[in-house]
Amino acid sequence: MSPVVRLRGARRAPAAAPKPDTREILAWEDDPMSGAEPVKRPAPAPVPANLALTILAKAPPLASHRPGTEAFRYWTGIEALSRGIALWAPHLAGRGWAATKRLRVHLDRGQDLNAYYDRASLSFFHDVAGGRTIYSGESPDVVTHELGHAILDALRPELWDVMSTEAAAFHESFGDLSALLCGLELPSLRSAVLRETEGHLFRSSRLSRLAESLGWAIRQRRPDLVAPDALRNAANAFFYRPPSALPPSGPDAQLTSEPHSFSRVFTGGAFEAMGLMLAGAARRPGEKHLLAVARDFAALLVRAVQHAAIVPTYFSEVAAQMIEADRLLLRGRHGAALRTAFVRRGLLSLESATARPRTVRRRTPQRAAAREAGIRGHEIAAATVPLPLIRLAGASLGLGRRVIGVRTAGSAPGLAARAAALSTGDARSARPDDAAHAFVEYLVRRGRVDFGSHAESARAAVHPRTRKTHRVTQQAGRLTLVRRCFDCGLDPA
Ligand SMILES: [Zn+2]
Repeated sequence: MSPVVRLRGARRAPAAAPKPDTREILAWEDDPMSGAEPVKRPAPAPVPANLALTILAKAPPLASHRPGTEAFRYWTGIEALSRGIALWAPHLAGRGWAATKRLRVHLDRGQDLNAYYDRASLSFFHDVAGGRTIYSGESPDVVTHELGHAILDALRPELWDVMSTEAAAFHESFGDLSALLCGLELPSLRSAVLRETEGHLFRSSRLSRLAESLGWAIRQRRPDLVAPDALRNAANAFFYRPPSALPPSGPDAQLTSEPHSFSRVFTGGAFEAMGLMLAGAARRPGEKHLLAVARDFAALLVRAVQHAAIVPTYFSEVAAQMIEADRLLLRGRHGAALRTAFVRRGLLSLESATARPRTVRRRTPQRAAAREAGIRGHEIAAATVPLPLIRLAGASLGLGRRVIGVRTAGSAPGLAARAAALSTGDARSARPDDAAHAFVEYLVRRGRVDFGSHAESARAAVHPRTRKTHRVTQQAGRLTLVRRCFDCGLDPA
């Protein structure tokens, strides 16, 4: 068994300032297939104690190793994690992981085209495709996407179990935005992207192309399922549709209610907003402007997810809260850019985008519940307020006469932000119960639920070869549907 190597937190550092480690490593900036060579990077910095990691692999010597070796893959994975944690840690204000003190990291957990976050670990895999072995833990894009799931879970743990397409898709979008923002922490990548896009960030580039190597590997088996040049491309043209109007699966070019597919609406709008923010920062933006915009964007995104009510139209809610965060934190510096991009994508209807400041809408059911629980003021947004639990009939799920409990989003308050309809005005917003029912049915149709011993095997659609993101469990004598992981791979089925 390989010894456990721990990245220790600052708590154990000696009282005197530690000497900086001047050794260097070689690492990818974004992805092994982005078309660039590895770059020299300083030794990965220790992570803070509240975000401690346990790396389940033997650490090779800290040095510049040759690409293609296990030692290179180890340090490029650790460098990406360390860079990502350095980006997000200041926004967590000492908060730790959602469900563990030390998040375990499996840089290569076995053979699979996959990567996942399951609250206990970040897990990465390897597999052979097209005669080439692809390691998901070698791609900083994939590593910082998975880390994004863990960071968002630390910020808003209620999103974990809620049965809502938009909440699940937002988790994927946050992961992709985490990959983009972690890439933009590197001066070399910022300069390269500005050269490639001629300063127009919202163009397809090695920044917008996410997880090229994992996308390439999946394309060898199922070219219809991924973008032609990446796993997903943030420079996309999707316009918002209510998830209930979308099919549960489809080829990459089509928007579906599958969370990775649907996430592209928010990611595209957010990336377009970032491009407009940069255009507003300077006529000929340099890498310093790009860094400032990326950091502003990260701050607005974090404040927005902390304050956004978890409602069925969660994309619009976060979009509106980003505009509000900009007004409060940055005096509206990026208001026009955010509004323009969110309206162009239908993430906000024209009416919602031009509505009065959002501080008027404080009375959401979650906030009311928080007040009742004695949680006040600023803490309300950060508090874990239980979302409604409803019971669904289990018959159509193969559970016989039993009922199953699921967490739903809260009801949207009267002044809630609305997405746009295709023609004019607001898109219709689903009721939380209907949105939950639709998401549960999506999960069961696509074989994402592990029923354990609870299903009547003769009646249930159990899909033995698909990955399970959810499971049926017994809680206080009642069946409940809970999340198992956020999974980002290709179904072997
Ligand atoms: Zn993901």
